[in-house]
This record gives sequence, C-alpha cells and structure tokens, in this order.
Amino acid sequence: MAMHDPVTAALTQVHARLASQRDGKLADYITQLALADAGTFGLALVSMEGHQYRAGRAQSPFTVQSVSKPFVYALVLAELGLEEVTRWVDAEPSGEAFNAISLEPGTGRPANAMINAGAIACTALIPGPTGARRFDRILGILSRFAGRNLDVDESVYASESASGDRNRALACLMSSTGSLPGDPSGAVDTYFRQCAVRVTAVDLAVMVATLANGGTNPVTGSAVVPEPVAVQVLAVMASCGMYDASGKWLLRVGLPAKSGVAGGLIAASPARFGVAAFSPPLDPAGTPVRGAAAMRELSERFGLHLMHNPARGAPTFSLSGGQDERVTLVAAQGAIDFTAAERLLYALSPLALKTGGGVVLDLADVMSVDARATEMVRAALTGLGAQGRPVAVVGRLGSAAAGTGPGRRSFTSGQEAVACCAEVGRP
Ligand code: GLU
Repeated sequence: MAMHDPVTAALTQVHARLASQRDGKLADYITQLALADAGTFGLALVSMEGHQYRAGRAQSPFTVQSVSKPFVYALVLAELGLEEVTRWVDAEPSGEAFNAISLEPGTGRPANAMINAGAIACTALIPGPTGARRFDRILGILSRFAGRNLDVDESVYASESASGDRNRALACLMSSTGSLPGDPSGAVDTYFRQCAVRVTAVDLAVMVATLANGGTNPVTGSAVVPEPVAVQVLAVMASCGMYDASGKWLLRVGLPAKSGVAGGLIAASPARFGVAAFSPPLDPAGTPVRGAAAMRELSERFGLHLMHNPARGAPTFSLSGGQDERVTLVAAQGAIDFTAAERLLYALSPLALKTGGGVVLDLADVMSVDARATEMVRAALTGLGAQGRPVAVVGRLGSAAAGTGPGRRSFTSGQEAVACCAEVGRP
C-alpha cells in the first residue's frame, strides 16, 4: 500500500508515537526470549478483502507463544465441537496469570483455553496417533490461518523445554485428576513446539483477520474453520484473551485479543479487520506494552469498541407511495440481515402502512439475504397476503428469499411490479 493511504498513515503515526516508549521488560523465564531486541516494533492490519497495511518491523520473525492458543482452540472446536471441548476446558475468565493453576475444584478442568492449563489440554485433545502427528496438524492449521507455510524456531523450543517445569507440573496435575487426556509429558512437548512456531506481525494480522472474517482466510480465500467456530474463539478471546487484564481490556479497547510472551499481540474487529503488533517488552500482566497501547489508540481512533454502535445501515431504504396511492414501494440495498430486515419490514407492518392496497418489495439491488432475514421476509409477506393485499417482490435474490405464497408475484423491474399491483388492487 502506498504511504499516503489513510490506514497506513494511521498505523505509521501510531507506530512513530510509541516507538520511543521504553516501559516493560523482556520475558526471561525462557532464556532465548531474553535475547530479543527490545526496540523492534511492527504493526500490521489486514482487511476482510485481504488488503494489507503495515508500519515498522512488521516482517520481523518471532515465536507465536500464547498467540497460538486461540488457533489451536479453533482446531479442536472444529474437530470435536463445543460440547465435547467444554467437557475438558471451560470458558470462564480465570482472573489469574497465564501460568496459574486455574483448575476447577473437584474436576481439575482448566478455566479457559487462553491460559496455559487450558491450552495444554487443547493440544492434548487434538486427534492423532503420536505427538509428531498432532504437531503436524497444529503447524498445518496455523499455516492455513497465516496463508503460508510456517516453521519452528528450534532454539526457542529447546530453551522453553529446558525451563518448562511449571508447565510440566500443570500437565501432571491435570493428568492426575483425569482432566488431561493422554500422556502429560507428550502434551507439554507438543505445546512447547506450538509456542515456538515462527511468525511475523503480518502473519498474525492475516491469522486474526481470518477469525474476524468468519473463519475464511481473506488473503487466500480458503475456509480454515467453520464460521460458528470463529465466533466461539472470538468470544473466548474477548472474555479471557488478556489473562487477568481481560476485563479492563474489554472495557478500554473493546476488541477480542490475545497476547504472547515473545511480544506478539492480535486483536480482531469482527467483519472489519485483524490487527497485530510485535514488540517484546511486557507489562507485569504479560501484555506487550507498545502493542497494547497501539491497539487502544487504533480502537479509539476508528471507533472499533465492540459495544460501540455497530456500523449503522450499510443497507439503505427508500419508501414511496408512488404516484399511485394504491401501491406502497419499499426498496433496499446492501446485505440484509436481522437488523436490516427489521428496518425494512417495519415499513410494511400494519403500524406503518397507512394506505391499503398493494405492496412492492424491491430487492433488486440487494447483495445478500441471510437465513434469519429470509424467514422474516416470508412471514411479513404471508401476513400481507392474508390481508388480501397484492404483493410483489423485485429481483432474483429477493424473489428467492420471499419464496411463493398466495397473491405473491416476482418481477425483474420495480416499475412492472408497481403497475401490476396497482392493476390487481383496482376496485
Ligand atoms: N510458551 C509460554 C508459556 O507457556 C507461553 C505463555 C504466553 O505467551 O503468555 O509459558
């Protein structure tokens, strides 16, 4: 993208403002991570059309660490379904640090898939005859999310394996209560390899854009996980993704997110874009300092908070009684979902429909009508037909959504439809 586009300009400004920030500490419990260059800082953003924007060191490699967790959770959800996965891993914020022993009293079930205990359980749940095969599946799905073949940083893997006793202890504890399937040391070893997969900020932005895009990679076009799985993963990222800082994060930034101890951070703006940052220094909660500040600025600047008024009315409507009082014409454009259908059909409700006579629903310029909206359109037209009104639908998609019913007709042009309804309605 050229430097003068507004998105690159915004990323570049945010990057420039935060680059001199010196707060935070490198993770050092994995010795290789303490060797990182604290000054490296990159930002990347990928839209639902696969447009890529970047600022700073967005192509520098680092290990994915805990940013792998939502994607491996997605893999087991796609394989086993939410019910089965929830038997093993709950979906409640733990309010505790990433490596806490947040296990349900009595059952030993981990609180959620974003903390280490839950992530190790997810890794163990992946179907496969050996650890190596399970790891191949992990690398495969992370690569499909990223849209390119990823590899492992063997030195970081060896370094974490050498100092990973706390994670081993967590796995053994879960295994002893029956809450971890299979061999605990194998599960932890696979988890360490998963954390050592090498990515860039651009890779992470494509990966999280895939979640924001309902599971389809916006760059490669490949359907990586089904849409309901992407929704489930984003929900758990929103409530649990930032460890014990999850509540404050949702309040202030308002985007599903996940951080990693090597300095990676992702956030999703559902149906809009995925954004990623890389900057190694972490705050005491394990959140990358510059990355978090960047997400916060971008969210405020672009009005992205999840609870902010959702983008109003991509579909537009026009209502006219026509020159002929006997016919009411309602036209819509864009994508018709529940919200759009509610607005559209309100104009045809007995409350709003002042005149008697025919009704034309012009959906010729509509891009899509989803299943819920289809049901609503059908019910509304059936109701109008039952009142004895002539009803016409315009456009191929609209006619398909409307289906058939008494007194209901389809047209390709609005004019024809109005003329026909006026004719039928003539006393
Ligand atoms: N591999 C790291 C660990 O298990 C991941 C933690 C993180 O990135 O927050 O300790």
